[in-house]
Amino acid sequence: MDMDKILVIDDSPVQAQFLKSILKERYEVTMCHTAQEGLNAAMTGSYSLVLLDVIMPDMDGFAVLSRLQERELTKYIPVILITGLSDIQNEEKGLTMGAVDYIAKPFNPVIVRARVNTHIKLYHYQSRFRAEALVDNLTGVANRRSYEGSSLTRWRECMRLGCTFSVCMMDIDKFKNYNDTYGHQAGDQVIAAVGKEISSHLKRITDFFARYGGEEFVAIMVGEKAEDSYEHMKKVRQAVEDLHIEASAGISPWVTISAGGVTFQPREGDAYDSYLHIADDMLYRAKELGRNRVVWSNQGREQWSEK
Ligand code: GH3
Ligand code: MG
Ligand code: MG
Repeated sequence: MDMDKILVIDDSPVQAQFLKSILKERYEVTMCHTAQEGLNAAMTGSYSLVLLDVIMPDMDGFAVLSRLQERELTKYIPVILITGLSDIQNEEKGLTMGAVDYIAKPFNPVIVRARVNTHIKLYHYQSRFRAEALVDNLTGVANRRSYEGSSLTRWRECMRLGCTFSVCMMDIDKFKNYNDTYGHQAGDQVIAAVGKEISSHLKRITDFFARYGGEEFVAIMVGEKAEDSYEHMKKVRQAVEDLHIEASAGISPWVTISAGGVTFQPREGDAYDSYLHIADDMLYRAKELGRNRVVWSNQGREQWSEK
């Protein structure tokens, strides 16, 4: 396993070097001597812990701490403050602001190592816990909670950057009938297989895919023309049919999905839910038209349908 990386932000090279010498056997230590440099390094997102000096000339440690907490990429990295010997006030302030601990100068190597080890261990537990909380157990894809967070973040990002946002709802056809015929456990396996298949077609950094609940899934694609998202989801729908999972009802010999989507340009004042509603309507339309098809709305003006 790779060594954990620790970032030391301290304007005193001597002090930073001393911390490094205490920790370098077990950790890969990077030293930054200005707050700004430290923030830039932290933004790479590769550190498991930050050791942060409270008093620095360009920006104090508290300001650095709040910057780290503002950013998604750095807000979970534990920060240990380095304080002076009789610096009770700074310790209090730092801990209430969310630093996980402090170490006082002059450093006691045994204590420094012990605290660092503990916080890195905790960080790994928490990271694993956070990741698991966002994954659906059955399919291994993102879950509803993950979707709630990601959809809004992406939607706002699109509004800010002026790019298009596509959202697509998918639902396995006649699935109640499948469960009734083959049993709930077999049904679960189908949900897992379908989820994995769809997921394998939505791997771009601008894509997002989640199990919405039950036998329903949701996809988000960012920065694509309506035609392209629609065409892509047609391929996805076909790929599910091509899994050739024997069906119970007569739409196709195989298990199929219906999908409804919409592409739009999010504007200030728009409610995300109203677009999700359109996707839902399109899905309903796909079911009505006979299932195993994709129906798409382009900015609410045009409507496209397969078959
Ligand atoms: P259609 O969507 O084509 O209109 O018909 P449907 O039968 O799929 O629709 P409906 O929404 O009536 O039923 C969905 C069924 O999906 C109900 C339930 O039996 C099944 N289902 C939902 N969640 C799960 C799950 O986690 N595991 C299994 N095995 N079945 C599920
Ligand atoms: Mg359903
Ligand atoms: Mg269904």
